[in-house]
Amino acid sequence: MPEFDLINRIARVFGTSARPGDPGCVLGIGDDAALVELEDGWQLAVCVDTLVEGVHFGPDATAGAVGHKSLAVNLSDLAAMGADPAWFLLALTLPGDDPDWVDAFAGGMAGLAGDTGIVLAGGDTTSGPLGITVTAAGRVPRGQALTRAGAKPGDLVYVSGVTGRAALALRALQAGETPDREALAALHTPTPRLALGRALRGIASACIDISDGLAADLGHILECSDVGACLEVERLPSASCFDEMPNESRWSLQLGGGDDYELCFTVAADQAPTLDALQERLGILLTRIGSIRREPGLTVLRRNGKVFDPGIEGYQHFSPSAGGG
Ligand code: ADP
Ligand code: MG
Repeated sequence: MPEFDLINRIARVFGTSARPGDPGCVLGIGDDAALVELEDGWQLAVCVDTLVEGVHFGPDATAGAVGHKSLAVNLSDLAAMGADPAWFLLALTLPGDDPDWVDAFAGGMAGLAGDTGIVLAGGDTTSGPLGITVTAAGRVPRGQALTRAGAKPGDLVYVSGVTGRAALALRALQAGETPDREALAALHTPTPRLALGRALRGIASACIDISDGLAADLGHILECSDVGACLEVERLPSASCFDEMPNESRWSLQLGGGDDYELCFTVAADQAPTLDALQERLGILLTRIGSIRREPGLTVLRRNGKVFDPGIEGYQHFSPSAGGG
């Protein structure tokens, strides 16, 4: 299929794409570059993420799920910054000529784009091993972005949703077993926590999305904020997919497993009632799992006061044990 047919195909799935008046993007697909606009008093949060077949998704992932996820991981980064989605660029490398795959891929991506109000502003299309790079931009009122720096001793540590399910599904797939349905959905079609990120503006002292595992990503907040934290492991919320699993194994997955796309954030201690109200309003589980302290490092404690060693490290590309992420 000629490159331009492919681009038109993708543009068709997304509808008319960017139009004058769309949030932030006044000229989209079809020219040499997109034109975007930013109102006074707002800043752009910009991020990019690449998904490569065999590294970030396997043959089990449908084209629609791959489309959904490659946008979702970027929206999750925007959520973690407290930004409202504005527009994105799609750089697509395709191995062959499979219009059905392209339609399903674009359909999965366009569905999430429509749900979250982000506009496809342009991209690039090349042939080669399957890989998807999405660059996304969001708007945030000047000075209100949530960063990883800003957690203070005495702050409370919260996590949204239930962590560890994506890792549970991945483990089942790697063992040749059928994953739990909810766990598989967490792995393949994660829900970026955009409404939560936006609501946390002016409330959270620090925020991060959990792509590399709760412990590792909280570790980034601790480093950037120059503080430490103590987690109470029994507070980690569970889900039915973990019913058969001993607590210790579940906690290890929930602290160490990647690909969760939940938010981990800190708030001043007097904000606990605000968080209760927010949980009600958004219908998202928000769980206080520990607190920030002055001494550096992360300690995970059992209720009996004993240290729990999750025996994990956050996933890192290029490390000898790399196999996901
Ligand atoms: P150029 O040669 O100037 O880089 P391209 O032929 O790569 O132009 O792209 C033509 C137009 O199509 C541009 O507006 C570009 O943003 C858009 N485009 C190319 N590939 C994609 C894609 N995968 N998704 C969305 N838009 C795309
Ligand atoms: Mg190009």
